[in-house]
Amino acid sequence: MITIDGSEGEGGGQMVRNALALSLVTDQPFRIDNIRANRSKSGLMRQHVTAIEAACAIGSAVCEGVAVGARSIVFKPGRIVAGDYRFAVGTAGSAGLVLQTILPPLLLADRPSRLTIEGGTHNTHAPPFDFIDRTYLPLLRRMGPLVTARLVRHGFYPAGGGRIDIEIEPAPLMPVDLIERGNPVDVGATAVMALLDDDIGMRELASARAILDWPESAFRLERLSNPVGPGNVLLLEAVFEHVTEIVTGFGQLGVPAQSIGSQAATRMLGYLNSAAFAGPYLADQLLLPMAMAGRGTFTTVSPTKHTQTAADIIRRFLDAAIRFDRHPNGAFLVTIGT
Ligand code: AMP
Repeated sequence: MITIDGSEGEGGGQMVRNALALSLVTDQPFRIDNIRANRSKSGLMRQHVTAIEAACAIGSAVCEGVAVGARSIVFKPGRIVAGDYRFAVGTAGSAGLVLQTILPPLLLADRPSRLTIEGGTHNTHAPPFDFIDRTYLPLLRRMGPLVTARLVRHGFYPAGGGRIDIEIEPAPLMPVDLIERGNPVDVGATAVMALLDDDIGMRELASARAILDWPESAFRLERLSNPVGPGNVLLLEAVFEHVTEIVTGFGQLGVPAQSIGSQAATRMLGYLNSAAFAGPYLADQLLLPMAMAGRGTFTTVSPTKHTQTAADIIRRFLDAAIRFDRHPNGAFLVTIGT
């Protein structure tokens, strides 16, 4: 049995999610201890429990020790079964992170699946719906499988209540080389507002605009009708021929709107000023499908601890060589499988 020390590397929930996905994909059981040891509240949170339950449901798996707060689990995978599934995080925990866990195995199933995942759709420290839909899934589709996502309802912390629907048509994963982003096509900045003062969004947009050299028409405010609870997110989107990067600023109590706007814009500027294909979040999320394809390359900004830890977990389950080298264009080149 593969044993993982959850305190190594990044030490967060992504290690659990990647291990669950890889276990189902490779049909190898694993044990993980010291779960989320590097987080202020260690152990499993509600959203991780939902991810494990979802992995058990789609993978005919058994898991020992699953409970909120648990620091060790043993997971034994079974047969991956496609179908119509509904999972509810039950809090504002991220629906996208549940998807991150079960999508890779369902790509290998023998027929299509339809998923409904309820919870948070725009959470800090998690891929927001827009990133999944417009940054991640187009690349996955380029690898073969046809996966589409629909945002049925926004869910923000703390009320949650959001919903995303996913359709998955499996196909063998093919290697891709994602080196050049191509010519710029479009840019956009949207402040999404749910039951909050427009003024907050206007200040976020103004502070982002002061940093980004984007036309005024690119900045807009979107008021949600009938939201479940209050919330706000700032989405900065740069569309290139071959990739779309989305940088997100999450409205948070006690954090001034100006700094949410300027921090997000500074991160976007960092990406725009690099020659990298993948931003820091896309990088850790691309590794798994590429390793499943057996080969692939992409350029990214400086690899994060999340990315390096994802590579470490993948190496535990798959016989995959993953290398990080400087690319002549100044970015990093990630090479999988050769
Ligand atoms: P963890 O912190 O271990 O729970 O993992 C968080 C996961 O969410 C990683 O796969 C990150 O790439 C992803 N993530 C966090 N923040 C964002 C963001 N703003 N946009 C896209 N993905 C994100």
